[in-house]
Amino acid sequence: MQFENELERETRLFATTYASSDLALEILNVNSNLQNWLIDVLASSDEPSACHEIRHLNEAKFWLWIEHRLAQLGDGFRSTAAIEKVFNELELFRQTCAEGIQAQWRGTLKTLIKRLSHALQLLSEEVSEDSNNRDPLTHLLSRRLLDGILRREHRQVRTHGGDYALLMIDVDHFKQINDTYGHTVGDAVLKEVAQIIRQNLRVTDLAFRYGGEEILVVQPITRGTDPTPIGEKLRLAVSERVHQNADTPDLQVTISIGISQYSRHPHPDYSHLLKQADAALYRAKKAGRNRVVCYTGELI
Ligand code: GH3
Ligand code: MG
Ligand code: MG
Repeated sequence: MQFENELERETRLFATTYASSDLALEILNVNSNLQNWLIDVLASSDEPSACHEIRHLNEAKFWLWIEHRLAQLGDGFRSTAAIEKVFNELELFRQTCAEGIQAQWRGTLKTLIKRLSHALQLLSEEVSEDSNNRDPLTHLLSRRLLDGILRREHRQVRTHGGDYALLMIDVDHFKQINDTYGHTVGDAVLKEVAQIIRQNLRVTDLAFRYGGEEILVVQPITRGTDPTPIGEKLRLAVSERVHQNADTPDLQVTISIGISQYSRHPHPDYSHLLKQADAALYRAKKAGRNRVVCYTGELI
């Protein structure tokens, strides 16, 4: 996929990761709403009622979606331009119907809707391709998205006086889990930990597979809010889950978390925040694991 510039690429990644993860499905739903609308209009018993339907086209669900939601996706998708083009033609058609229905209205409407439907289908496919930005084992966001998203978050927070936290999460004694129960169990544990973390985050939080058994959470917060409780919540949720079964009778899984917070040490370079979260994680490990440590300043 070609991008005009870095900002455009970032905007698109940001939009898709922040938008509903079921965006591709959402677009398919919009498409089916469009098809149903067409079927209803074509089935209208007489021309005045068809004309009425077309004039009120701008109240249909698909219309509202295109009008309000499409722009939020940014310019990075190839098919958005095609959707906008046919959408504008449809708007013209709607306006002409206000003055009375055209002779060939059925044919024109069918062609326009078919083109719109095709473009929506392409958009849904493009969005699906984007979901490949997830790690296949854990379904967490892939690390290669991290730089762009962090840069954007950092810039946003610095410009608007907001705040965000990084939570660097690492599974405790994971090597031992692999050595004792095998890699398959290790993989299953990793998958489960990722799932527990995802279930305990808010929609605005982003979780990345940072390394082997390391997960990084980027969490926008209200300036000055203490991010420790969310870390504690994640730590507890993982440690309370019973992982034992017949094959793994003694399996205990815990995580350690290092947290850094922008507003505590505002710095123009976001990579400092990553180093601070790492330093805090190191301290959590040294202090005995299964704990949350917030970076306070003395480690780098
Ligand atoms: P600590 O508590 O200090 O974090 O110890 P640890 O054993 O978790 O840390 P260490 O870095 O020594 O070991 C991490 C292990 O994770 C080593 C690597 O083989 C394993 N690992 C990394 N990725 C995967 C994976 O995708 N699946 C499995 N099963 N193991 C993995
Ligand atoms: Mg590790
Ligand atoms: Mg570990």
